[in-house]
Amino acid sequence: MHLSKHYLTAGLLAAAKFQAAEALFDYEEAQLTVEALNTLQEPERSWFDFDKGAPDPNPLCKPVPGDFEYPPQDVWDRVKAVSGNKLIVSVPQASSCYHGEHFDAAHCGYLTERWQDPYLQTEDPIEVLAPAVQGNTCQVTSNPQGSCTLGGYPSYVANVSAVSDIQMAVNFARNMGLRLVVKNTGHDFLGKSAGAGAVSIWTHNLKQIRHIPNYSAPGTDYTGPAFKVAVGVQAFEIYKAAHDLGLNVVGGEGQTVGVYGGYTQGGGHSPLSSLYGMGADQVLSMEVVTADGKFVTASFDENQDLFWALRGGGGGTWGVVTSMTVKAYPDMPVTASFFRFGTGPAVSPDAFFHGLRAYLDHFEHHADSGIYSYFRINPLPNNNFEFVMQPFFAPGKTVEEVNALLAPWIARLRELGIPVQPRTTNYPSFLDAFYAEFILEPVMIGTVSQGSRLIPRRTFADRAALDQTFAAIRQNLEHGRGILAYNMAPDLKRAGNPDNAVNPAWRESLSHLITHVSWDPRLPPAEIARIRRDFTNGDMKALRDATPGAGSYLSEGDVEEPDWQQSFFGDKYPQLLEIKKKYDPRGLFYVWKGVGSEEFDVRTFDGLPNQNGRLCRI
Ligand SMILES: Cc1cc2nc3c(=O)[nH]c(=O)nc-3n(C[C@H](O)[C@H](O)[C@H](O)COP(=O)(O)OP(=O)(O)OC[C@H]3O[C@@H](n4cnc5c(N)ncnc54)[C@H](O)[C@@H]3O)c2cc1C
Repeated sequence: MHLSKHYLTAGLLAAAKFQAAEALFDYEEAQLTVEALNTLQEPERSWFDFDKGAPDPNPLCKPVPGDFEYPPQDVWDRVKAVSGNKLIVSVPQASSCYHGEHFDAAHCGYLTERWQDPYLQTEDPIEVLAPAVQGNTCQVTSNPQGSCTLGGYPSYVANVSAVSDIQMAVNFARNMGLRLVVKNTGHDFLGKSAGAGAVSIWTHNLKQIRHIPNYSAPGTDYTGPAFKVAVGVQAFEIYKAAHDLGLNVVGGEGQTVGVYGGYTQGGGHSPLSSLYGMGADQVLSMEVVTADGKFVTASFDENQDLFWALRGGGGGTWGVVTSMTVKAYPDMPVTASFFRFGTGPAVSPDAFFHGLRAYLDHFEHHADSGIYSYFRINPLPNNNFEFVMQPFFAPGKTVEEVNALLAPWIARLRELGIPVQPRTTNYPSFLDAFYAEFILEPVMIGTVSQGSRLIPRRTFADRAALDQTFAAIRQNLEHGRGILAYNMAPDLKRAGNPDNAVNPAWRESLSHLITHVSWDPRLPPAEIARIRRDFTNGDMKALRDATPGAGSYLSEGDVEEPDWQQSFFGDKYPQLLEIKKKYDPRGLFYVWKGVGSEEFDVRTFDGLPNQNGRLCRI
């Protein structure tokens, strides 16, 4: 939202605004001021005012539309007018597939064809890419008789293009006692960018990139290239901008991930992690709107505690980030290898699993050599399995070096009678390798949920522990669970010994392993709940039991992760909770299994773990 030009101009002229060390983007210069607020009549002025310590109007449960406490239509009409029409009334895009006022068969056909394309989905103001966490209440269908409801989507969206829009949305949600969510791209696996009845702040359209050839700032000894990046910039955009300058940055393997939203705030693993650490380790400073509506810098010498928490302590928890300044590195050639092998007439499941097990013996050496490998292990019908390496990503390495790294394992596979033929290619730059070798991952699969485990280095040094871990992996595969996994080493040394909130389990880990549960959507919710619990307490437990004291990646974890404070945050949790109480004592920025969320629960309408229900204090 933003005030109309008249209000804004009056406010900006009258007030001394906050200024950051690194020049703000133009949209950050447009801030909400008391003078601008004073141009509003009551009650509107009070709706948008900064935090004055008034009690929460809805201290028990945040209302959803239809509740007595939910603002009536005329309030939303006024908000829309004051915001200069930046308030979007949520309409699920797939409503075009259902009879009713939004029915549009042609649009539905278009959506259906592209439904799993993240480029389509991240353009939508309310869509979340893991539909189960929204409650699966409005998916594309060929049956227009079905029902389409808002479910866990927010009710209203502030399509922000200025910091003042964000401040007004934060103040409005807090002052009216409404649920607030922050959405950038909607990639979050756990539904942290969704929430029934919520006002959502949609940061996707904040898109600016500034190259800083030689960054230096108080509080950090880093000097060198950097980028100041608006929070809506996605991986494909920053990679291209960096490439054009002969640079690269730490970002995800997913092309459309919001690198400076949930990715970096949650940790952020990258094809460059075995060289430079996690995404959160790259941050030099951030601009953020806090729960009281103020706009501040968090950096090595301002609001250091907030800065610490924002780097790994999870998205949507501390405030609304508007931009970050991050390190950049010289671009380099990359060698990448693709290969697959599987069971078949000449390869038994036992031989396959011996071949797979042999790979684990090389994890330490590979990751310590700077490799990031990304592989899938797929169970196939009739007790068949396949392994797909896509890719073995080796920044700065030659084809010969990659061949040498892979040779012992490939030799072992051949000894086992497993045919395998790596296709290994050298690329002149990170960007060339990135597009050629990583797949564009499909999204919007409504009947799956994930679980993650970070497998520690100590496991790989202990034969019994490694055997137990491998048995748990095999158990998952034999139960039909496909596995996505990574080999990397984002340890502290590679990251430059940062002090931040990244889960300490990442520093110890050599592998991030994701397994999943799926279900038949026609089953009753209670049966789906049972299947999901069995996953968490069965095959996921086997992985946890094999790796005691390790952790899980909060951005790609299980929505029902037990003891999640330990798994997602490790021993940093108590400090994070303290910082949360300081900056957001009311818990305005609630996210599922985020810091401080143990004080709340989402009372879902179907009893499943999703965002389709009232958010209530426990
Ligand atoms: C296809 C795919 C590929 C992925 N690849 C990788 C990968 O390579 N490496 C990796 O580490 N992870 C990866 N992830 C996970 C991804 O990093 C997380 O889902 C991350 O949270 C996405 O952040 P986002 O801002 O894009 O998404 P969103 O869902 O919009 O936001 C995620 C969280 O961040 C919060 N948030 C968003 N914007 C802001 C903001 N401006 N201020 C404050 N909070 C904000 C939201 O409230 C939410 O809690 C992938 C996920 C998918 C679906």
